Amino acid sequence: MKFGFDIDDTLLNLRERAFTIFNAKLNRNVDIETFRSLRTIPVHDAFGLSPEEGRKLWNLHREEVFYSASPFEEAVETLVELDRQGHEVYYVTAREAEHCGKTRDMLIRNGFPVREGRFYCGMADLEKARIIDELGLDYFFDDKPVVLESLAGMKLKVYVRDNSYNRHLDLPRIVNWSELLDIVSKEK
Ligand SMILES: [Mg+2]
Repeated sequence: MKFGFDIDDTLLNLRERAFTIFNAKLNRNVDIETFRSLRTIPVHDAFGLSPEEGRKLWNLHREEVFYSASPFEEAVETLVELDRQGHEVYYVTAREAEHCGKTRDMLIRNGFPVREGRFYCGMADLEKARIIDELGLDYFFDDKPVVLESLAGMKLKVYVRDNSYNRHLDLPRIVNWSELLDIVSKEK
């Protein structure tokens, strides 16, 4: 089967990394619980910053956040196992075009299975649906409500990677990546 994955906050713990870096750069000590209760994807609310201030901070530290964020627990192991079982693993990320090469290298460095022709990058959020359709994916996993909502009505199985800002979505949900192997084995 063909499995497609978003990267940021689906496979990588990106926002928490941004929160940690911003805390240090701003010389603040905002509690992790404040971060965990955010209902927004940007994290600037945790620091009482305006959207404009948040955007500047993000632009300043994006590079560091992108390439120092860690995979979520069991993400690498699960995708390696899917690949080992003969499934096709695809990545579909809306990271900006100039980050595509480095992002692919980062996945490989972290141990994710990245095979030729299965890494798609640099599209807008709402172009993901077309790519997912053209690839004929059987499953897709994302964290972002606007992306997930754009996949409604397609015949693939769509899962939300659980986070504080997507709990209102009525979709099958992955909390820990190890759950996916159980889902796949039950499908057989
Ligand atoms: Mg994402």
